Amino acid sequence: MEKILFVTSEVHPLIKTGGLADVSGSLPRALEAIGQEVSIVLPAYPEALESAGDCHLRSTFHMHGTEVTLIEGRLPESSVAVWFLDCRGLFNRSGNPYVGEDGRPWPDNAERFALFGRAVVEVAMNRVGLSWQPTIVHCNDWPSGLVPALLSLESQRPATVFTIHNLAYQGVFPFSAFARLGLPSRLWALDALEFHDQVSFIKGGLVFADRINTVSPTYAREIQTVEFGCGLEGLLHHRRERLSGILNGIDENQWNPAEDHYLEKTYTHKTLDRKKANRTALQAQLNLAADPDVFIVSLIGRLVIQKGIDLVLDLLPELVRLPLQFVLLGSGESRFEQSLTYWARRYPERIAVTIGYDEALSHRIEAGSDMFLMPSRFEPCGLNQMYSQRYGTVPIVRKVGGLADTVVDAIPSSFAQGGATGIVFDEASTGALLEAVKRAWLLFADRPQWERIQRCGMQKDFSWKLSAEQYLRLYEQAQSDNRS
Ligand code: ADP
Repeated sequence: MEKILFVTSEVHPLIKTGGLADVSGSLPRALEAIGQEVSIVLPAYPEALESAGDCHLRSTFHMHGTEVTLIEGRLPESSVAVWFLDCRGLFNRSGNPYVGEDGRPWPDNAERFALFGRAVVEVAMNRVGLSWQPTIVHCNDWPSGLVPALLSLESQRPATVFTIHNLAYQGVFPFSAFARLGLPSRLWALDALEFHDQVSFIKGGLVFADRINTVSPTYAREIQTVEFGCGLEGLLHHRRERLSGILNGIDENQWNPAEDHYLEKTYTHKTLDRKKANRTALQAQLNLAADPDVFIVSLIGRLVIQKGIDLVLDLLPELVRLPLQFVLLGSGESRFEQSLTYWARRYPERIAVTIGYDEALSHRIEAGSDMFLMPSRFEPCGLNQMYSQRYGTVPIVRKVGGLADTVVDAIPSSFAQGGATGIVFDEASTGALLEAVKRAWLLFADRPQWERIQRCGMQKDFSWKLSAEQYLRLYEQAQSDNRS
């Protein structure tokens, strides 16, 4: 049995800004379900502490004269412990973990996540009075990047795994931060944290972890190229023997159309007819025309270039010529929010745009739509294309990263094998996206064909169990690398 310290900066349902939270909420439970011992360590954000319910002070310790408190709570509906670390109140502010209300990174992010990393190392080395030492420290994205780097300086350390959820976010700070943080000077080197004269937190994970993985096999290959490598492709290629891809699963309890309490009517692949009630309810909720024949195309996500929102905006003049309704839920760059809102005002019966974060609505959109757009420029794994398949909502995705690994294009050969689950297109262009939507529209007109695609997607196994077993193998490899 492994003892795993899972280091993360967000966990669903305690605090979430994106897919990392979903993984951090699900993978520890799935690992526990296959007999592993897991504790999550998270900064002590006030909202997260509140959501965790019953919490108690478990330890107080000092690092270089700074007091750190460790508060213990539980991941709701599980026996996984969550250890909240607080230090000088650095996390004691409400709102987004990384950015202030103005959308700009908190000015003291380097200090916040450096202290977090240092405190995690104390926990990992069993120096905080918990009488617990992990065999594996599993870090995630740049906020925990310093942990493998600092642990590499310890003798008798646990093995380390670093998961890249999104390489575009790297935690890069000016050199002055390096000096201010008092990091060991030997970490200031090209084969350590230095990145173009700045300090890169993510490099701490990429250079020093025993094993690196990312959240889909295709993204693991893509990030070794200039197009997707964000300047780190050389390093990643250099470490390719230690780099792999493991697809995320989805939380099948939370995303289950047969039991989803947000829905107007629950349904399964055998009762697809009941999905219609969700379409009608969605149209009513969003003040769209109550038309039973149009097809509903939706999109949920961060409104940023990565997600191809600019392509969707350029497509809207064409989309309004087709017999469809477009539903969008998201927030992000204000230029996209404004343009989308403009289109919704112009075509209120055909286009519904909700700016904000709304979990209930996201479920109702998945259930009430016919198709789901993900024209991402890059997509490490992506979750919504899996939710969509589970909800009988056919995903239209670009052939990148996890989208390429989880959606099977509806072309004659895949139909023949009975495996088609969506529409896949190649190029990041409005033209290619339009072609894909038209292809979907033609398939939609052929009801039996369409329902075969829906049913096939609904029966796919996106469970975390499969992924958890692969992580367990990765942990074993990391331990053997740490020993050698
Ligand atoms: P990323 O992590 O790049 O944002 P993912 O597809 O991996 O993208 O995960 C995004 C998660 O956040 C999904 O669970 C998605 O449903 C959810 N999500 C994104 N934006 C919103 C929103 N505005 N309202 C509700 N859920 C959202």
